[in-house]
Amino acid sequence: MGKKDYDVIIVGAGIMGACTAYYLMKANDKLHLAVIERDPTYTRASTTLSMANVRVQFGLKENIQISQYALQVFETFAEDMEVDGDKPDIGHQKIGNLFLVNEEGEEVRRKNLALQLELGCNVEWWPPETIVEHYPLYNPEGYVGGTFGPDDGIIDPYALLMAYVKKAKSLGAQFIKGEVKAMKTKAGQVEGVVLFSGEQLSAPIVVNCAGAWAPELARTAGIDLPVIPVMRQVFALDTADKPEGPLPLTILPSGLYFRTETGSLILLGKSMQDDTVGYDFKWDDKRFMEILWPELAEFVPAFDTLKLVRGWAGLYAVSTLDENAFIGEWPELKGYFMANGFSGHGLQQGPAVGRYLSQLILGLPPTLDLSIFSPQRILDNRPIAEDVWAIV
Ligand SMILES: Cc1cc2nc3c(=O)[nH]c(=O)nc-3n(C[C@H](O)[C@H](O)[C@H](O)COP(=O)(O)OP(=O)(O)OC[C@H]3O[C@@H](n4cnc5c(N)ncnc54)[C@H](O)[C@@H]3O)c2cc1C
Repeated sequence: MGKKDYDVIIVGAGIMGACTAYYLMKANDKLHLAVIERDPTYTRASTTLSMANVRVQFGLKENIQISQYALQVFETFAEDMEVDGDKPDIGHQKIGNLFLVNEEGEEVRRKNLALQLELGCNVEWWPPETIVEHYPLYNPEGYVGGTFGPDDGIIDPYALLMAYVKKAKSLGAQFIKGEVKAMKTKAGQVEGVVLFSGEQLSAPIVVNCAGAWAPELARTAGIDLPVIPVMRQVFALDTADKPEGPLPLTILPSGLYFRTETGSLILLGKSMQDDTVGYDFKWDDKRFMEILWPELAEFVPAFDTLKLVRGWAGLYAVSTLDENAFIGEWPELKGYFMANGFSGHGLQQGPAVGRYLSQLILGLPPTLDLSIFSPQRILDNRPIAEDVWAIV
């Protein structure tokens, strides 16, 4: 390793760390920036274990604008992120998101739809007949309709992450393999970090991008971050009946969601109240067989014959305050910034959050004001009021 004194140290090189590094270096390529990642293969990072979905269908203005920015970035991504003639292919596919709506959720969904349209999003209200017209395998009985976002879709999370890492490196960021043990602080100011190897790195600014492990790092500076790691499971299914074209990410009001994956498999998941809290990665086929499959087969009767091919578990970093992220400087520790608590929607938020954090750190005016996510609300015990129907 070279220089031990940095301007900024980022802990964690998942999508948040990598995007923040990229935007910092893009704004100022003279910065001495270290990004510390304990596992550059990303075996357990949420970024690489995600469902890869990008959607404008949120109920909070800022969450919608964040995804609108991601869609804008993806339009010219290959050109903008080129390094030495290599143009990254992030496999962006607009397969759409379809949220099924029942009577109970209709008012909130229609309100969300109105907000999305007001902000210029491409989202449509579909009555049940339109749903069947587009997706004949679906049985929308019991639903009043659905909202369909043709611009929603998927990207390849690993390709996206690698593109940001590679570009940030090309601009001068140093990516270091190592595990941060603790933050160093003195008189209300961050001073750097200590690694488990014993090495000490100094910087007046440390950014916590440690994903589901963020509360562990925060604790080393005496900060109690209201974020918990919650295990979520995803199952890959080979159905006997194959849909003719791709199925959108389809979300039932119960929280069950599924979509087609390349190679005609179906990916499916559901966030459940009894999901394990902790650093647990053991997925459970019984959960699919006994609970999720019957629910799926009711909505898609043709899927009553299928094979469970594999599954995986990843962690949501869940804010127990309001299920929304904490982005910004901690008011009681100068130089300590965070981008934590993204639950199940952080992958698509990387570009906007990385840009915003870089602007905060460099003292530049924010292009998109995300101060609503300020960690000050933890101290004030002031949750963001977003309709729960809008979050998955
Ligand atoms: C099953 C599942 C499905 C999801 N689906 C979607 C989706 O469809 N769309 C969407 O937008 N989002 C989705 N998400 C959420 C999204 O994946 C996360 O919000 C996002 O990836 C968080 O990125 P991150 O950089 O904060 O965390 P991570 O990707 O987890 O990165 C954190 C990194 O920090 C490193 N680290 C931690 N502690 C230390 C330390 N002390 N020292 C050094 N390194 C450390 C870790 O090794 C890790 O690589 C999903 C998540 C899961 C689990």
